[in-house]
Amino acid sequence: MTTSSESVQSSTTFQQVVEKLAEPEKTRGCLLCRSTLTVVLPGVTDTRLGIGGSYDIVRCTACGLEQIHPLPSPGELKALYEKHYNFGGERDTTYTRIREWFHFSPVYRLWLILDGDFSFHLPKGTGRLLDIGCNEGRGLKIYSRNGFQAEGLELNETAARVARQKGLTVHTCLLQDFQPSHLYDVVVLSNVLEHSLSPKEVLLDVRRILKQDGEVWISCPNSRSWQRKVFGRDWANWHVPFHIAHFSPATAFARPERVTKELRNALLVIFLMLFMRGLFFPILWLGNLLGRGDCLVVMARRT
Ligand SMILES: [Zn+2]
Repeated sequence: MTTSSESVQSSTTFQQVVEKLAEPEKTRGCLLCRSTLTVVLPGVTDTRLGIGGSYDIVRCTACGLEQIHPLPSPGELKALYEKHYNFGGERDTTYTRIREWFHFSPVYRLWLILDGDFSFHLPKGTGRLLDIGCNEGRGLKIYSRNGFQAEGLELNETAARVARQKGLTVHTCLLQDFQPSHLYDVVVLSNVLEHSLSPKEVLLDVRRILKQDGEVWISCPNSRSWQRKVFGRDWANWHVPFHIAHFSPATAFARPERVTKELRNALLVIFLMLFMRGLFFPILWLGNLLGRGDCLVVMARRT
């Protein structure tokens, strides 16, 4: 990002100055505990979408969380999401119909059992469930089938509208501004937390909208996966600059000290598993058994 950030500085707008003044904490130090950072992998570039810029992977000297540096500003992220991630309203195509059939078939359940259920499509239950970042509501249909009263939170208006047209309940506001009329039994953060500039605040907001004994289900890339070691800078889950924070079982959720203590007071981790997906199932399966899979899955209960 060095090149583009230089050009941004030379043409800084008043709005950018206001943003930087309003959120100084988010641009300095560890996203969880604000401690100092050291570079562990310099010069990671985007390999998926052709986005320019180079980012360092830095690690917190206190809690061990890894994150990208420099952090994009909220304004830069918004523009990048609008350009590369916007849901275009695809529906009722042959592809979407086949996909929907697959998601409701026994073959899909078997696939999840073998490969890993990092979207939480297997657990059956009751009560109110909120899927944060629900997109056009694919997951909501599955959670409903599994017994939950499922609702979504989605910032993309187009995607939310498509979901509502299917009869699904979708709220469109920032999580921090979300004031639900009822608390939830389950909140799902499936591949969401790693995208946040303020993951701790996200978890505290989740706690705010959970019932006592409610659960949060989180999946995100595992920064200790063996694929990261093998592929180095080319690891698919660096996904700069969209993936901001990189969690591991030890750094983010399982250590009883430092900032994680604050999280543990709020969220008692009941179990923690690692999953892998892909074609090389035996290797991936072994990776899962050793806790070095590519996806970190956490199910935690509010106490
Ligand atoms: Zn830290």
